[in-house]
Amino acid sequence: MSVDPGDDPHVRLLLGAYVLDALEAEETRGVARHLRGCDGCARVYVEMTEASALLALLRAEDLRE
Ligand SMILES: [Zn+2]
Repeated sequence: MSVDPGDDPHVRLLLGAYVLDALEAEETRGVARHLRGCDGCARVYVEMTEASALLALLRAEDLRE
């Protein structure tokens, strides 16, 4: 149940894929666990989530027509 942090102990390289739900299940668990314990990465994650949600809204608007 441990994920090797490798060269990126703060999982930021994985956050983009995490937001898009594009990670392997094991990576997803590792990122989720890190976010619970790291305010810095949690903040980056929230910003990415908001940006992603806005993009999704725009896309939904585009698809309405
Ligand atoms: Zn971190």
